[in-house]
Amino acid sequence: MTRRYCPACWADAPATATRCPNCGKPLDDGETDLVLRYATALRHREPTRACLACGMLAELGDLRAVPPLLALVESRPQAYEVLVAAAESLAALQDARAVPVLQALLEDTEAVIPARLAALRALTRFGGEAARAALAWARTCDRPSLQTEALALDLGDSLPFD
Ligand SMILES: [Zn+2]
Repeated sequence: MTRRYCPACWADAPATATRCPNCGKPLDDGETDLVLRYATALRHREPTRACLACGMLAELGDLRAVPPLLALVESRPQAYEVLVAAAESLAALQDARAVPVLQALLEDTEAVIPARLAALRALTRFGGEAARAALAWARTCDRPSLQTEALALDLGDSLPFD
């Protein structure tokens, strides 16, 4: 069964519904471009909706999603799970423009640790110099959790470089 999402409030709706059960707006707003639709939803006030949009954009694999995802990361949303989801989405899309933005998140002492760990894992998935630089930075930083994660990632047998 396909779920539908209201383009206005992003609430769940049954596949057969024509109007949103939450806000009453028509479910078909004529916007057929899913990348645009999910990019707008990145700013949804409900973190779970924003996270869902991150996941959908990763799944679509369309690189038009990269700039809005980068803007989202740079805006440091209050809900850290949105930052984590955006970092995962950027790792999946594998666009090099994400590397400096993720490295900045990794090094951001104002950001929460789960978000910085997500940045480290995402950078590792890029492989090559991006992964090397991120792991080297994390190994020598002053946060034990980041050091531990860097060590674990470095010992992993699925490392994209060697
Ligand atoms: Zn609605």
